[in-house]
Amino acid sequence: MSKYVYGFGAGQADGDGSMKPLLGGKGANLAEMNKIGLPVPAGFTITTDVCTYFYDHEKTYPPELKENVAAAIKQVEETMNAKFGDDKNPLLLSCRSGSRESMPGMMDTVLNIGLNDTTVAALIKQSGNEHFAWDSYRRLIQMYGDVVLGLKPESKNDPDHFEEILDHVREKAGVEHEKDLSVDDLKDIVKQFKDVIKQFAKQEFPSDPMEQLWGCIGAVFGSWMNDRALVYRRQYGIPHNWGTAVNVQAMVFGNLGDDCATGVGLTRNCSVGTPGFCGDYLINAQGEDVVAGTRTPLRIEESLGKDMPEAFKQLTEIGKKLESHFKEVQDIEFTVQKGKVWMLQTRNAKRTGFAAVRIAVDLVNEGLIDEKTALQKRRIPADDLNQLLQPIFDPAGKEKAQKENRVLAKGINAGPGAATGQIVFHASDAEELWNKNHDAQLILVRKETSPEDLRGMKVAKGILTAFGGASSHAALVSRQMGKTCVCGCAVLNIDYDKGTVSVGDQVLKEGDWISVDGFTGEVFAGKIETKASEVMDVLMGQKKAEDAETYSRYAQLMSWADKYRTMKVRANAEAGDAEAAVALGAEGVGLCRTEHMFFDHLDEIREMIFSTKVEDRQKALAKLLPFQRDDFTHLFKTLGDRPVTVRLLDPPLHEFLSEHHLHDDPALAPKLAKTFGVSEEQVHRRVEELKETNPMLGHRGCRLGIVYPEITAMQARAIMEAAANLKKEGINVQPEIMVPLAGFKAEFENQARIIRETAAAVCKEKGVEVAYTVGTMIEIPRAAITAEEIAENAEFFSFGTNDLTQTTLGISRDDYKSFIGNYMEQDIIPSDPFQTIDQPGVGKLMKIGVAGGRSTRKDLKIGICGEHGGDPRSVYFCHEIGLNYVSCSPRRIPIARLAAAQAALDK
Ligand code: PEP
Ligand code: MG
Repeated sequence: MSKYVYGFGAGQADGDGSMKPLLGGKGANLAEMNKIGLPVPAGFTITTDVCTYFYDHEKTYPPELKENVAAAIKQVEETMNAKFGDDKNPLLLSCRSGSRESMPGMMDTVLNIGLNDTTVAALIKQSGNEHFAWDSYRRLIQMYGDVVLGLKPESKNDPDHFEEILDHVREKAGVEHEKDLSVDDLKDIVKQFKDVIKQFAKQEFPSDPMEQLWGCIGAVFGSWMNDRALVYRRQYGIPHNWGTAVNVQAMVFGNLGDDCATGVGLTRNCSVGTPGFCGDYLINAQGEDVVAGTRTPLRIEESLGKDMPEAFKQLTEIGKKLESHFKEVQDIEFTVQKGKVWMLQTRNAKRTGFAAVRIAVDLVNEGLIDEKTALQKRRIPADDLNQLLQPIFDPAGKEKAQKENRVLAKGINAGPGAATGQIVFHASDAEELWNKNHDAQLILVRKETSPEDLRGMKVAKGILTAFGGASSHAALVSRQMGKTCVCGCAVLNIDYDKGTVSVGDQVLKEGDWISVDGFTGEVFAGKIETKASEVMDVLMGQKKAEDAETYSRYAQLMSWADKYRTMKVRANAEAGDAEAAVALGAEGVGLCRTEHMFFDHLDEIREMIFSTKVEDRQKALAKLLPFQRDDFTHLFKTLGDRPVTVRLLDPPLHEFLSEHHLHDDPALAPKLAKTFGVSEEQVHRRVEELKETNPMLGHRGCRLGIVYPEITAMQARAIMEAAANLKKEGINVQPEIMVPLAGFKAEFENQARIIRETAAAVCKEKGVEVAYTVGTMIEIPRAAITAEEIAENAEFFSFGTNDLTQTTLGISRDDYKSFIGNYMEQDIIPSDPFQTIDQPGVGKLMKIGVAGGRSTRKDLKIGICGEHGGDPRSVYFCHEIGLNYVSCSPRRIPIARLAAAQAALDK
């Protein structure tokens, strides 16, 4: 027979701290605290198996549960020396939820179970405190009504009958808080509360303690599926089938008088990580008062030592014992009853990224944990490192903006960081403003961004777009540049002509201040002060390491991560961000998108596009060659002997010239017409020819180089000339030339031949041998499926998971936002497939690609350079399937380094 009920009390427990899946976090730790001798009121935990049974059997219980619970209550009665429902010495119980992962505030709690008209009299006698007994009774009826009978208001417009009565009685009595009400007032409230239940729940408040308890147990199990809990689980990836446990525990009272208190505390500060007990408490109060915000709590670290020296001493000792036992900072709930501290809960505390790093490093330095433990992903979710690298909003400033209702909208948090600045709608205006004043703080606000906007994006502090998802142009480029970006903010109504952006009837003009939070996707009207990242300051040589405490802990942590990871981490970078990439720890470049270099030379690339004859195209390409060579020279030099993967031209040509360019810049068509000696109409005709219905699947990638081989030849020459020149200077450059979007072996071979012939010619001309390799991106399902063939000629693979996701799912990364949110809400897909690899689909193709490639070349070097390369969950997957490296935007390198270490350590 299954064991459904686990008891604890008086230093004994059926369960222990390792049993979180079955007992939930709260239940497991209550058992554990009992075992290590901490003061815990006796009680029992009904397992998560019962929750599963409850939902599988139309909300009924296993038949033996009634008996098990009765036996467990008996045990508690013996330990606490009181009897549930007794008219002389009544035991009162609490009933709380507790799932495997904590879900703070998402599920329900009922206190003081067992009170009725008879037991309340006994409680008065026993406690000698009439006020306390009646106050406890009214709390039970209120919580029972709210939680069990569903009277809690669901929206702010629903009436809160209980609070209305309380307000009314308080007002009549002329007091601010119910602790100052008379006993008669409380008795009156109890009566009125019972009437509310009768009127609105159409039943009597049950006086039978057993009936009360079973009502509460059912309500707690029921709260597992409430809306709040569902949303929370989706957000944090907690499976719906885990279920919650129910903890029933003897009540201890923090509201028996001024030598009693209730509180919540942390064994260290979890905002910034500083050591020392801290938290909130209230004297003469019950648990929910602290969180309800009806009374302003006092700070433990400031005044508990004075108010209750003995309790403070007990609490400090308990904090130390907890940390040395759990080896983690703890978040606790406690009650002080007549000077004695009772523990109601302990769990690993949630913390900011700053606190996570400080606490993990400090715990190692204090000898409590080792380096490997410090790196655990539950201690420092790799993504949280972001907080140490990006400018952040001054917390007080952001809180003020929220209080002032300045939140305008919420979009996709595409580029982490905090940016505040004046609105500018056009990249050219941004550039102009910045040229006039390098201190200008600008936010580029666009419907969407395109390569043309790059210069504006460079000078803006942040980017805000109305359209596009997590791998849209704006998102991708911002991440690469390390810019704060919120995209896909569909409620923004942007009018370029009027120079306004509006949300409903709120209108902001060009030049108005706006603030974007790239961590949360929030957009605020007005200015919010920001603070720079100390870590970035040191890495970029703007601050000395010895003056930087946060940096020194970051550096210590990263040195451990580098020691334990087995996968390399490279950057997706071009010449402009190569230094930052190296400073952030890149061990190479995994993707240099060569088209980004062209955006600064649009005239020349447009000349090439306009050429109809090979000779003309070659002439235009000859103009681009020196620019490319200079960029490669800078990139190779910065990377030294680290490998650099250079990808040949990939985007369709319309990205350099389209109707949208002609529309945005009315001078462009006449200028092109003049330059190429054609009519404006011919300009428009050429632009029309370039237009593709589905450019994502169009004339791009290696298809360009196959139709225009001279482009490939020019790029290969620029790469190899730069490499050969540097080789002569003694730099051991390691270029890896990468062909994009190949799906057929023959496509790859076509391009590889041109590259190798060009490389041989350059080496001969320069009189120097340069070691280089030619490989391909795997970003089309066909390439993954036929990887063994492609590997016959390709010397390395790099998964382009942005395109591989598009082509596998048949979903375009540019416009998927219109439905993906709905898909996630309906649990059709677990997460955004352009952020986290869809492992069963795209991931399966990757596995096939790895196996195929390595069946032909045993030691084939394989990496990933899609946006997923900087996503921790995807990094774990890449480790699992045996990739040699991940490549991501420079700002995500530390995150990928930490995630790679976590993957290696997580057996
Ligand atoms: C990819 O497709 O994953 C990739 C890195 O290439 P791009 O995003 O430039 O298409
Ligand atoms: Mg691609």
